[in-house]
Amino acid sequence: MNPFVLPVLPGAPCRAPCVPTMNILVLNCGSSSAKFAVIDSASGIERLTGIAQRLGSPEASLDYSHSGQKHSQNLPGADHERGLRAAVQVMDDLGLRQSLGGVGHRVVHGGAKFAHSTRITPDVVAQVEACIHLGPLHNPPNLLGIRLAQHLLPGLPQVAVFDTAFHQTMPARAYTYPVPHQWLEQHDVRRYGFHGTSHRYVAQKAQEMLGFAAGQGCLVTAHLGNGCSATAVRDGQSVDTTMGLTPLEGLVMGTRSGSVDPALVGYVARATGQSADAVLDALNKKSGLLGLSGLSNDMRTLQEAAAQGNPRALLAIEVFCYVLAKQLAGLVVALGRLDALVFTGGIGENSAEIREKVVGLLGFLGLQLDPAANAQAVRGKAGRITASTAPQALVVPTNEERMIALDTASLVAGQ
Ligand code: ADP
Repeated sequence: MNPFVLPVLPGAPCRAPCVPTMNILVLNCGSSSAKFAVIDSASGIERLTGIAQRLGSPEASLDYSHSGQKHSQNLPGADHERGLRAAVQVMDDLGLRQSLGGVGHRVVHGGAKFAHSTRITPDVVAQVEACIHLGPLHNPPNLLGIRLAQHLLPGLPQVAVFDTAFHQTMPARAYTYPVPHQWLEQHDVRRYGFHGTSHRYVAQKAQEMLGFAAGQGCLVTAHLGNGCSATAVRDGQSVDTTMGLTPLEGLVMGTRSGSVDPALVGYVARATGQSADAVLDALNKKSGLLGLSGLSNDMRTLQEAAAQGNPRALLAIEVFCYVLAKQLAGLVVALGRLDALVFTGGIGENSAEIREKVVGLLGFLGLQLDPAANAQAVRGKAGRITASTAPQALVVPTNEERMIALDTASLVAGQ
């Protein structure tokens, strides 16, 4: 449970904005897995979490956790429907199904059509389908999850929460690429940005920690997981972000290169005899920390190897931190001022070493690390990690599922 979320006590006056209390099923349906969680929207308590994974293969299984106990069922050959049916059966057995007030779906690409989470109607489904060309890998399984939930849980309100929606407030100067304008007009080529649910969640928590009024302040939020992106948030709104038309742009990530010279695609294709698609695939799956180190996409493994003097691991960490600091500083241009830099995601929440290097590189902005506070802010602990108070650096654990549950409960309650 997130440490910042205050439970709403029965009979207690609601803090604004009032959080409706109901259990929400949060569903994140991917190409071969479906993650689910039943979350109490007001307290954030997770009543059930689980994943139906390796779907479509002989090793398919349903793994879930309830009341601190882990369970696993083999579902050989199960497809998404069988996997989700088994998950719904678990909810039935635990008496949770009847308590559900709605289903919140993570939907990756809402294009320029969705600036907010929305109740799912046939028209919304049609619009998400119309964004498939922008999110060809993610939107089809997201839509499958919506259809299956409608089929398996008839009558329950369903809500779509988009990764891209938070960034729809970016001004044209931030989302327009300097390319032929017809590409935007005819093919929707522009910056959309991703990880919006996480950036929105940690920005709100950071505002609470800083004692700012809701929706105030100039923040740069850095979501550093396997995928990494950073966002400039002014007065609660995204004004620029590092990911672009696709999640390939921006920071160095686990296996993605982040921003590189686009001409290298044609150059490497010609030099190696591969197709441009094969080069792009390598930029997505064989680059980043993995490509730099030749060892792993996992930051923990690289830190261990670097501690033993492995030169490629050392280089990978150095490039990761340098590119990150450079792009974080660039985002301050969008804000004109920095109140706080916010770290989140597996690396941002746990690696005191990476935070130390990045804050060190950004010292010219006035950030000054507090090493003891930095060492303590790990494994889900939030807090300020700088001695400086203007600007500050904070660690804020993200909770995208909680944000999806909150949006869903609010829309179901008609707020
Ligand atoms: P995802 O984007 O898949 O949700 P996470 O947010 O869980 O990923 O982040 C995964 C990354 O976090 C990996 O690179 C992992 O090595 C890193 N990570 C997790 N714990 C630590 C730690 N204690 N120190 C350094 N890196 C960590």
